[in-house]
Amino acid sequence: MSLKFCSFASGSSGNCYLIKSDETAVLIDAGISGKKILEGLDRTDTPREMISAILVTHEHIDHVKSLPVLTKRIPDVSVYANEATWEQIERPVPDEQKEVFTTGEEFRIGDLTIRSFPVSHDAAEPVGFSVLLDGRKISVCTDAGYISDEIVAEISDADLLLLEANHEKEMLLFGKYPYPLKQRILGDEGHLSNLHCGECLCRIINGNPKRRQVLLGHLSHENNTPEVAMQAIINTLEEERIFTGDELQIEVAMRDQMSDVYEL
Ligand SMILES: [Zn+2]
Ligand SMILES: [Zn+2]
Repeated sequence: MSLKFCSFASGSSGNCYLIKSDETAVLIDAGISGKKILEGLDRTDTPREMISAILVTHEHIDHVKSLPVLTKRIPDVSVYANEATWEQIERPVPDEQKEVFTTGEEFRIGDLTIRSFPVSHDAAEPVGFSVLLDGRKISVCTDAGYISDEIVAEISDADLLLLEANHEKEMLLFGKYPYPLKQRILGDEGHLSNLHCGECLCRIINGNPKRRQVLLGHLSHENNTPEVAMQAIINTLEEERIFTGDELQIEVAMRDQMSDVYEL
C-alpha cells in the first residue's frame, strides 16, 4: 500500500497539503483558494469523494481560508481541529462537518493514523501533524517559533518531513516589516528561521540516521527565497558534515506551485 504526499502551496499566503493512501485521502489545512485545492485534487488524480478529512493546524487565515467552500463542494468531508482552535476559527463550517480532536491523542481516518503535536506559535492551540500508515510516516511542522525536544522526538523518524524555513534572519531584520512584526516573527511564538530549521535537521539526522525526504516549507515572500533557504540550510548541515544524497533529499515546497507527488 502506498502513502503519497503533495504540497499544493506552502507559505505565508496559503497552505494546503494532500496525504493519501490507496483508499483514504486527507488535506492538512485549506489556506489557498478552493479553486486551487480542487485543481490540485484533479492534478493528483484524487477524486473529491476520497477526501475524508481536512486537518487544521491553527486558525490563521493562511490555513483555514477555504474551509467554507470546501465543506460545501465536498459534502462528506469532516474538518478536524482541537477545541481551542474551533473557538477561534472565524470561517463558517457546518456543525455536522466539525470534528474535535485532543492534541496529542492519536485518531484514525480510514487506514491512516493521525497524530497531532503542539507547536509554539501565536495561535490558540497550534499543532503539527504526523500521518502514519504501515510503519511509514509523514510529518508536517510549520508555524513554530522554536523546535522543542518533544517535536524533535515526534518528527525524527518521519520518512517525509515538511519543516518550516520561514525567513533568513538578516533579510527580516533589514527588511521593511514594522518592528513589532519583526519581533513577533522572531519570537518564541513566531516562525522558524532558516538557521533554526537547519539546526533542527542536524539534531534529527545525527540522532536518527535514516533515509529521509525533507521539504522546506512556509517560506516568507518578503524575507526568504527558495535559493537562500536551501543554501542556508545546506551550509548549516555541512558544518556538521551532513551532506545531501541518496539518504537525505531536500527540496523546497513552493509558495505558489504544486510540488511533485512523493510516494513512500
Ligand atoms: Zn501560517
Ligand atoms: Zn500561523
